Amino acid sequence: MSLQQLLAAQNQYPCLSGISFNSLTTFLRMACLARPLIEFQVEDRRRPPDFLHCGLLELLAATVSNRNLDLVQTCWAAFKKIIWNHPEVQPTEEEIKKYNDAALCRGTSFAHLLPPVRVCQDSYCPNYRDSEDIMTLKEPLSHKATMHTLRNGALPVYRTSLYCRAGCHRRYYPNYHVRKSTSLRTYYGGVSRSIQVAQHFYIESPLLELFANGMVFGWLSSSNWARIYNIALARTESHVLNNKIAFASQLQSSTRPKPTLRVPSRMYIAKGICV
Ligand SMILES: [Zn+2]
Repeated sequence: MSLQQLLAAQNQYPCLSGISFNSLTTFLRMACLARPLIEFQVEDRRRPPDFLHCGLLELLAATVSNRNLDLVQTCWAAFKKIIWNHPEVQPTEEEIKKYNDAALCRGTSFAHLLPPVRVCQDSYCPNYRDSEDIMTLKEPLSHKATMHTLRNGALPVYRTSLYCRAGCHRRYYPNYHVRKSTSLRTYYGGVSRSIQVAQHFYIESPLLELFANGMVFGWLSSSNWARIYNIALARTESHVLNNKIAFASQLQSSTRPKPTLRVPSRMYIAKGICV
């Protein structure tokens, strides 16, 4: 965002003058994290919605520690085009925790797992479209899940699927879609950013790459990888928590919050399948 855009927004919305630069930066980053969810909730994704519904306003307000929903709505009106076209944000550990503190109690999460498509993929279905811009899939269903990541540990996430009710009766999940009449599971093309390895468990592709290389070059078994992940990677401060005597002074003086996992996060191995 350029200084010119910032000044133009301030001129158009004078009430933004009272917001600190730090709060504004936090709002923009949190709104960028929420953008996939906002896009998922609008029918036409070619332009940002003029107004956010109450649930999204409360979520963003909670992430910036501001209870003034009108001010959050004004911030959205002022910066929605910037947020809509902004490249993906790489959040810090603290930002993920702050976002999840506000999101998990509202039925969403950081890295909320969504179907990669918004229209039916069957070219004979009336809900098929050449473009993904206008959503034709309906009836979202959400469940809790766990995402195992390489850099952020095991994260509680929500997963949402969509249904083609008026057409072919397929349900679309983050990795695949299932036709109701045959229960046939069809995976999308390409490699997903996260792979579903059990009903409610996903593993990020970079973590799977680490597992694969450990098996090829280190001859590590699946069960040993599970032990390594649970001890050293599942918690973002494992090096401190696993060595409490060595890091005693840091543990006592640290103001950083300890990792909190709200859903089962341990990884188990059975017959080569990570769950
Ligand atoms: Zn369909």
